Amino acid sequence: MWTGERVYVALGSNVGEREGHLAHARARLATLPRTRLVAASRVEQTAPLGPVPQDPYLNQMVLLETGLTPAELLRHLHAIEAERGRARRVRWGPRTLDLDIVRFGDREVRDAELTVPHPELAHRDFWLREIAELDAAAPPLPSPHD
Ligand code: ATP
Ligand code: MG
Ligand code: MG
Repeated sequence: MWTGERVYVALGSNVGEREGHLAHARARLATLPRTRLVAASRVEQTAPLGPVPQDPYLNQMVLLETGLTPAELLRHLHAIEAERGRARRVRWGPRTLDLDIVRFGDREVRDAELTVPHPELAHRDFWLREIAELDAAAPPLPSPHD
């Protein structure tokens, strides 16, 4: 029986071949160990957030089921970002590919590398829209307590 947890990963890109960067991320996420890609939201364009002037983003959310731990998944996300030449120059600055863990099952993680649920979740309308779209496409199973 499959016992993976449901994880929502946000994809974002505002430099170079934005569609290509998102497609690369989807393909790599789908082949991570002990992981399957359950559904992907539509791709939408959004205005950049924060203080740095930069081009608009393409955003997408994917729903994974995974047996990886949050720390293992984060390491994979950083590796995939690096494959697209992600450079961390300016905080919240332009990037080829950004991969953020938005929710990881019901877990709450708060350490130096990872905060889950993502602290900006409530403030990013497009994330809330994308999560609703994914939940409609792949309804969560009722919990044993329901
Ligand atoms: P934001 O998180 O506000 O969208 P960002 O995505 O631009 O900002 P990054 O430069 O991609 O920030 O990441 C900085 C660090 O944030 C990463 O090295 C990672 O360790 C940490 N981090 C903390 N929580 C998370 C999370 N939920 N998902 C991804 N990275 C996280
Ligand atoms: Mg981000
Ligand atoms: Mg990030």
